[in-house]
Amino acid sequence: MKTILEIQKLDRQIYALNREVDKCQASVNFKEYKAKLQEGRARFEQLEAQANDIIKNFNIANNRFDKYRGNADIVKKRNSDNINLDNISTLIQDTNDLVGDLSEENRRVEDLVRKSEEIVRKSAELSAKLTEAKKHSAVYKMQIEKKREEVAPKIAAIVQQIKELEPKVEDKEKYAKYKQMKEAGIFPVFVPLVDNFCGGCSVELPLNFVEKLKTAKMLPCEHCNRIIMYQTKA
Ligand SMILES: [Zn+2]
Repeated sequence: MKTILEIQKLDRQIYALNREVDKCQASVNFKEYKAKLQEGRARFEQLEAQANDIIKNFNIANNRFDKYRGNADIVKKRNSDNINLDNISTLIQDTNDLVGDLSEENRRVEDLVRKSEEIVRKSAELSAKLTEAKKHSAVYKMQIEKKREEVAPKIAAIVQQIKELEPKVEDKEKYAKYKQMKEAGIFPVFVPLVDNFCGGCSVELPLNFVEKLKTAKMLPCEHCNRIIMYQTKA
């Protein structure tokens, strides 16, 4: 067991080194820019959807213009065919309605033009920002790589130490379990009992569990599955 705990201590150093890379400023910035890039892409999709909407509305407006053109022809025809005092007021009314419809349509189209200009402007802005973000994230990625290269020989040395210790492990079954849990992302695997709490997940352990642990010396935590050791420092 002593050897396994020594290995765990070495693995802990590897974890710390990897964390150093993950928590370095370049990594933090890189994650930030990555999030920004994703946000930007989502925004682009939104703008595209808005643009498609505008195109659809333009087509609808176009169809309406055709209809007005048709109406105008009808009014013109009526005007020339049978103009008399009875229908002159209807004709004036029809013409006024047509003029009203057309100016409303004109306002709508102007509004669409304004909106599309805004989309073009926003897309250009966004595109510039994304290009900038891409440039930055490439720089950060390089810095992270450099940091990783810095810690790589240290990690390699520790891995070597672990390899030398492995043949000395007596409880092969326990060590296999250790490796299996470590690979599953559960680390540290062996944790101390801290008062009546699990030294891994900090859950309070029932008194009968603690009692059992006193005799068994080692039991898996019912909550996080880590192996709790009684009176042994991890
Ligand atoms: Zn636990």
